[in-house]
Amino acid sequence: MKVINLSSVRDKVKEVVQEANYELQEDTLKIIKQMQEKEESPAGQEVFNQILQNARIAKDEKLGLCQDTGLAVFFVELGEDVKFQKENGLESLRDAITEGTRLGYGEGFLRKSVVEDPIRRKNTGDNTPAYIHWELVPGDVFKVTFIAKGGGAENMSQVRMFAPAAGQEGIEEFVVEVVEKGGSNPCPPIIVGVGLGGNFEYSALLAKKALLRRPLGSHNPDPFYEDMETRLLERINNLGIGPQGMGGRITALAVQVEAFPCHIASMPAAVNIQCHSHRVISFEM
Ligand code: SF4
Repeated sequence: MKVINLSSVRDKVKEVVQEANYELQEDTLKIIKQMQEKEESPAGQEVFNQILQNARIAKDEKLGLCQDTGLAVFFVELGEDVKFQKENGLESLRDAITEGTRLGYGEGFLRKSVVEDPIRRKNTGDNTPAYIHWELVPGDVFKVTFIAKGGGAENMSQVRMFAPAAGQEGIEEFVVEVVEKGGSNPCPPIIVGVGLGGNFEYSALLAKKALLRRPLGSHNPDPFYEDMETRLLERINNLGIGPQGMGGRITALAVQVEAFPCHIASMPAAVNIQCHSHRVISFEM
């Protein structure tokens, strides 16, 4: 049985929410530079230059990569053989992640982007609650992946329930349609997470999980979905939306698809859009 102190989880969460918001990770920078080489429009080139300059300034001066520092979303893989030591007022793993988020966003001068009620809109003041997805796994694994998810890109995301007759063609049309409809709103060049199968809520979770695949731009191990990712990326980049919607070849940096078994009568599909400010970090303890 592995024992982890809740205060060390809190401190690590506090550290990573700041680091993710200040620094683009290596794989994200790499794909931005690779795609810049393919951009043909001068305006698009300039946007890429500004994205890279912004990333350098944010890292050097420890400033948020974007003013929208996002909802704090966590995916936790929790081993059945891991136990947490309560301490310093932290009673649960949820407490530790919440407190790390509160401290990280507060001390890091990161924008507080959460309202306590969707209609009445009062800011919670500390960017909590954190949005935590739990997955119980065998062994003593404790792995946490954090993504700061801005509102602009999230608002352009969609879930749709298809009948199986829509087929592969219907799904691919849907993905391209969602990106086209989003236009410049999600701050392209974007990353397109696609979740296929499961059910209504599970497809949305799969689409978000698809955004977390590392390195960014790596393919689904199933050649069928690898082909779909390649084809979708090409179709999306032929839309002409371009970086920040200013026209050009590169609307998306990557398309990443995750699939899961589903009901014989349905074919759920979700598209979760992420902007170029792709702030994702994982840690293990
Ligand atoms: S979509 Fe992304 S880059 Fe655009 S404002 Fe939101 S967080 Fe910032």
